This record gives sequence, C-alpha cells and structure tokens, in this order.
Amino acid sequence: MGGGPGGYVAAIRAAQRGLRVGLVEKERPGGVCLNWGCIPTKAMLRSAEVFQTLQDAADFGIYADSVRFDFAAVRQRKDGIVKELTDGVAGLLVANGVTVVEGHARFTGPTTVEVFETGPSPIFQGGPRYAATPTVAHTRTISATDVIIATGSVPALLPIPGADLPGVITSDGAFGLTEVPKRLAVVGGSAVGAEWASLFATFGSAVTVIEMQDRLVPLEDKEIGVALGRSFGKRGISVLTGATVTGIAQIDGALRVRIGGAQTSELDADAVLVGVGRRANTAELGLADAGIDTDARGFIPVDEKLRTGVQHVYAIGDVTGKALLAHVASHQGLTAADVIAGHDAHIDYTVIPAATFTHPEIASVGLTEDAARAAGHEVITAKFPFAALGRAKSYGDTEGFLKIVAGQKHKEVLGVHIMGPSASDLIAEGALAISLEATLDELADTIHAHPTLGEIGMETALTGLGLPVHIAPPRKR
Ligand code: FAD
Repeated sequence: MGGGPGGYVAAIRAAQRGLRVGLVEKERPGGVCLNWGCIPTKAMLRSAEVFQTLQDAADFGIYADSVRFDFAAVRQRKDGIVKELTDGVAGLLVANGVTVVEGHARFTGPTTVEVFETGPSPIFQGGPRYAATPTVAHTRTISATDVIIATGSVPALLPIPGADLPGVITSDGAFGLTEVPKRLAVVGGSAVGAEWASLFATFGSAVTVIEMQDRLVPLEDKEIGVALGRSFGKRGISVLTGATVTGIAQIDGALRVRIGGAQTSELDADAVLVGVGRRANTAELGLADAGIDTDARGFIPVDEKLRTGVQHVYAIGDVTGKALLAHVASHQGLTAADVIAGHDAHIDYTVIPAATFTHPEIASVGLTEDAARAAGHEVITAKFPFAALGRAKSYGDTEGFLKIVAGQKHKEVLGVHIMGPSASDLIAEGALAISLEATLDELADTIHAHPTLGEIGMETALTGLGLPVHIAPPRKR
C-alpha cells in the first residue's frame, strides 16, 4: 500500500524474489520523495545555486551582465525532472512484473485490502495532489498472503489561530507558489524549513526563520546548527531561535505572525511556510479493521524485520516514524520484501547518513558529540576547515568544516558532521568509516586524491591524531 521510495522499492525487490506483487498507489509513483520532497526541492535549489554562482561570477573573472531568473521556468525545469523520474519508476514497476493498481487502499481485514480504484485517471500523468475526491470507477478487494503498509507521511499542521489563512502554506503548498514572496516567514528550522529558507533567500525573499529550539537543524551536532545560523545571518536570513509562533492574522493585506518565547514580537510576511514536522499518513487506512496499533505519535511500531504486531502485516518508511528519510524507507522496503520472501534479513539503523541541501550544505552520520557523551563514550573531537583545502579555494566555496567525533581510547569514528561544499556527497566516506568501524589512523592512512574536497576527511583525521599537516598545530604550553 503506497508507491513512495519505501513501497516501490519493496515491490521491485519482492517481484525479483519471485513473489506475485500488487502495488496500490492513490496519487503518483515515487511518493513524497519524487513528487513533493527530495527531488523537486533539489531541482529548484540547483536553479538557486546557478543563479547565485552567476551573480558571483566576477569573483572568477567572468562577467555575466543582467543576471535574472524566471521563476516559472525554474518550476518548469523541476516539473520536467519529476516527470522523467516518476515515469522511470512506473516503467521499472512494469518491467519487474509488478501489477500497479491506481486507487486508495483500505484494510477490511489483516490481509485483505479494499481498493477504491480511480480507473484510468490523470494521477499517473501528473494530476494535482489534493484534487477533489476522484471519481471512483469501481471497488475491488485484493487478498494477499502478506501486506506492506508504505503510506508515508503528510505535513504536520500548526494548532494555532490563523493556521488556515490563505498564504499560510506547508511544504507541499510551497510548490504551488507561482511567484517568489517578497517577505517569507518559515516556521521551523529543521531540514525542510531550512532548505526552503535557503532557496527563497537566494531568489530575493526577505526570509525569517522561527525555530522553537535554541538553534537551526536541532537534530544535528550543536556546532553545525550554530554555524548554519551564523551563515544564514551573513546571507541576510533572519533566524529567531527559542521562539514559538502563537498565531497568525491577516492585517492590511499581510500575514501578521505573532511570536512568543523569551521575547514576544510580531512580523509581517506575504507567505508563511509551516515546516514543523510530519505525521503518519494512516487516515482512512482502516488500521483498526486489521487490528494494527499505532504509537502515541500515530506512527506504526515495527520490529527489526519490519513486522507490525499483526502477523503477515509489515510497515516501512515514514509511516513507521523511524527516520523520515527516503533512503531509510527504501532500505526498510528491501528488508521487508526479503523477509516476506523467506530470507534471513533485518534492518540496522546504526549508520544513517542524512543531508540538508541548504547553502552551505550540511550532512551527518553517526553520533553527535552530545549524543556520544550521553551514551557514555569518552570522546575526542577534531575539526578541519574547508578554507584550508586547495580544492575548496579553487571552487570559491570555503565556508564550513568537517568534524569527527571519535572514541578517546581506540580512536574509532563515532560520528561525522559536515557543513560546506558537497557535504551531501562527502558524508559517504563517514558512513563507510562507521560501518567498517574504522579508526582515525585508518582514515589518515588512506591516500586521498589531491586536490579534492574529499581530502577533508583525511585531514580531519590527522588533526584528531595531533598530526595536522595543513593547519597549524595546537600551541604548546
Ligand atoms: P511517501 O514518499 O510519503 O509515499 C507514500 C505513498 O503512499 C504516496 O505516494 C501516497 O500517495 C501513497 N498512499 C498513501 N495512502 C495511501 C492509500 N491509502 N492507498 C494508496 N496509496 C496511498 N528525504 C531524503 O532522504 N532526502 C531529502 O533530501 C529529502 N527531502 C525532502 C524534502 C521535503 C520538502 C520533504 C517533505 C521530504 C523530504 N524527504 C527527504 C523525506 C522523504 O521524502 C520521505 O522520507 C520519503 O518520501 C518517505 O517515503 P515513503 O515511501 O515512506 O512514503
């Protein structure tokens, strides 16, 4: 049930394992990731990056006069990329022999699902997300030996006055903006809110981010959140931390946002983007009819084999609330399909890299410094700045650093945290290091190509060992 990066990957693996597979999807293949999340945001962020680079071109000895953007064309490019990828997924499902059923699935028993088929609909050709209830062509019941719930998540809403005013939008609604808002308030400074803030700031919005915690991206290592806040500040993005939005009102054609916290204040915006988290998409799924429980947050608890409390019913992806990331959903999907096909598989959440595609980018894997200490590890930390890398200088992008958290005694890598150019790609080395239980010595002894951004992992390891080459050693007392 559900054809996002959890469901479609599970369907393909299950078919490859020789199972007969039906996949029910009520909207478009690819789920939130391909249609409303990972891919469309990154497509638009890339346009913003190109715009910024052209504006800074003189720094490279290149002169690009009258640089401007066309937001409609930016959105059109994004739509084209989404279509290519979702068409690709639809094709892969067919090629693997998966039967795709377009419609809304609902449990009528633990392993029987009623599907309100929408018939030949515009859905797979890119229909609107929240269209009026589609005309139900007919209903059919599917019986299966095993069922996987992969229905994902939807944006959480703010329970405050004014949350339903026109102009107050979620991340999904942001894709509907046809113009760049002059003044944008972003509620929530986690990955989703921070990415939108970065994007619209580059396109010229006056952006204010309002975050309840004491820093941006509060799930990341403290130093990263603080550094990102400082970087946003330099770009003119206003960041209010320790602040809570208590209400929104429409006054004189603007949205007046009331902010509580240590100090109360108000600000006016043309759009308010609410990015305060996600909730499990289990409404109208008939979970009670299948005897499936949810936890206090509404997510479906599963074990390491993705089994729910009901035999032969599995859950994967955002709906499990484990880590709301596409690659986690896909890995859970592969595991669930293997388990159903009789293989001895289980999922291990120890190594989950995550990236946020702000400018500058951030990425992390493993334990933050605070989490490592809280877990009882005696740790050392090492940092190395991008500014000391030849490649970063030639890129003209030297902001940020890589930080390693390692065990004090054996120097095993426990966590890697990056802010800076290509952080989202560089994190792969950190993930492999933790996965292979590598030490700082092993990272430092691995020859890295020069001049590359990748050298930063090796240089940070050398710094952690007290043998930095390209930054000054700590002063001897
Ligand atoms: P979903 O992708 O939510 O898919 C669920 C599918 O189930 C949907 O297609 C839905 O239509 C269908 N469905 C629901 N109910 C039913 C039903 N009853 N019957 C039939 N079909 C149903 N993650 C990353 O890893 N990297 C990123 O850069 C990233 N960027 C993001 C940016 C944004 C703005 C957002 C919102 C999310 C981002 N994510 C990112 C998170 C990522 O999109 C999700 O973690 C991922 O899509 C979850 O996959 P899923 O398969 O569990 O569910």
